[in-house]
Amino acid sequence: MASVLDSDRFVCPVCSVVSPDMPSSDPIASVVAALSDVLGDRVTTSAAAREHHGDDLSFHPGAHPDVVVFPRSTDEVQQVVKICAQHGVPMIPYGAGTSLEGHIHALHGGVCIDLQQMNKIVRVSPEDLDATVQAGVTREQLNHHLHDQGLFFPVDPGANASLGGMASTRASGTNAVRYGTMRENVMALRVVTATGEVIDTARRARKSSAGYDLTRLFVGAEGTLGVITEVTVRLQGIPEHISAAVCAFETLRGTVDAVIETIQLGVPIARIELLDPLQVDACNRHCGLDNPVAPTLFLEFDGSERSVAEQVETVQRICAEHGGQGFRWASDHMGRDELWKARHQAYWAGLALRPGCSAMTTDVCVPISRLSDCLTETHADLEASGLYGPVVGHVGDGNFHVLLLLDPEDAEERQRAEAFHERLVTRALANDGTCTGEHGVGCGKIRYVEQELGPAVELMRAIKRALDPDGLMNPGKVVRLEPA
Ligand SMILES: Cc1cc2nc3c(=O)[nH]c(=O)nc-3n(C[C@H](O)[C@H](O)[C@H](O)COP(=O)(O)OP(=O)(O)OC[C@H]3O[C@@H](n4cnc5c(N)ncnc54)[C@H](O)[C@@H]3O)c2cc1C
Repeated sequence: MASVLDSDRFVCPVCSVVSPDMPSSDPIASVVAALSDVLGDRVTTSAAAREHHGDDLSFHPGAHPDVVVFPRSTDEVQQVVKICAQHGVPMIPYGAGTSLEGHIHALHGGVCIDLQQMNKIVRVSPEDLDATVQAGVTREQLNHHLHDQGLFFPVDPGANASLGGMASTRASGTNAVRYGTMRENVMALRVVTATGEVIDTARRARKSSAGYDLTRLFVGAEGTLGVITEVTVRLQGIPEHISAAVCAFETLRGTVDAVIETIQLGVPIARIELLDPLQVDACNRHCGLDNPVAPTLFLEFDGSERSVAEQVETVQRICAEHGGQGFRWASDHMGRDELWKARHQAYWAGLALRPGCSAMTTDVCVPISRLSDCLTETHADLEASGLYGPVVGHVGDGNFHVLLLLDPEDAEERQRAEAFHERLVTRALANDGTCTGEHGVGCGKIRYVEQELGPAVELMRAIKRALDPDGLMNPGKVVRLEPA
């Protein structure tokens, strides 16, 4: 898609001044000048920076912004937004760039607002178990800061994402089964709206009935309604005791049935993750392991020593009843890491199965009672399709990913993969599930959201038009402004 700036006409303001023969009517030229007045050398049009900020890990074609800026405060973000709004230039907020559905691609060019330099931990209240951070603070940075106080922030999407990005994609990950997703863990947000107002969506009270829930409107909005500059989150005390376990199964159905029974019995499991045989094989090759090549559960338990021992005993029995073999577990740090190594490396191990491939990530989620059928049907479909697709599941939540590994030169294979994905989403929706459990919509899943939510999408369009009347906030993501 065409960019507002369709060539590299301008000199990077970091290295030099803006080209003197720049046409004054060019909106980007005026924007670059105005942004440089506010941010000085924290404005760049260098090709490398634009490319880096306009390409994610997905198979969606990249689209580069015209300019990248690095604000350090809410006030600076507000000034950036006002300049862009005044000149009618699109804005794309950027956290750590780890999203997987073309979320950060600048489909219409414009200004990428990179929040990585907004990396201050504003306050921690151990007595209230909450903290406020600037949007660019990463999950690992926050947890490192909290460790000495015996606290941690539980949402863990695997990648070292920013809290602003995680809030914006409504991220979750391996321990959502115990601690919830960003929806449950974000208490309040400071946001610069598309028109340049600064608002706080809530105070720090644990509950509130004060009006529309704007926090949850911006959680999952993917930068299409405003720029989050501060995030207030719930914290947890580091558990007294943690154990990890791994168990291989005879069949996929037996594996999932063990998960369902564990959840239905109310075992407060911290993590329960599934790898299918192809994914286990990939991890063995990538990490030099020798796990049995079979459907396998990776489990984590936390709580008091006694509670953990009871949980382990219960789950070990459930696993055995469903064909689980060789249940192994460990409580010390090294032993736990060793058991979970395969799970931690799953994404990169999957990619390494087919060097040079491009990866189409899928992300359906269904009610737990439907997981067994949905997953076994999907596995049969995968085999019939002749596609390469290791499966990883946050199965305690009914969420699983088939990572389709595609030859970028093979158009026919791509078509087969898209048809498979279409069937996968249709199957999830038929089971009252969703096309995306945690990755979000970006530009990749817009049509599936329309399929999933039908007339409700019209209300989303109305919200988008009301909050961003000129359509400048991350255009082309989450909803199409006009029905297809
Ligand atoms: C190996 C790997 C494993 C992953 N596993 C998981 C997983 O288990 N669970 C999961 O949920 N995700 C997972 N992801 C996806 C990714 O980590 C999440 O989507 C994450 O929340 C993105 O955060 P980010 O800071 O990288 O945001 P970015 O990618 O920079 O941005 C994501 C979206 O949020 C918007 N945005 C970013 N910051 C702001 C802000 N301050 N204000 C407004 N909008 C903003 C952007 O415009 C964009 O639309 C994985 C990714 C990788 C690479």
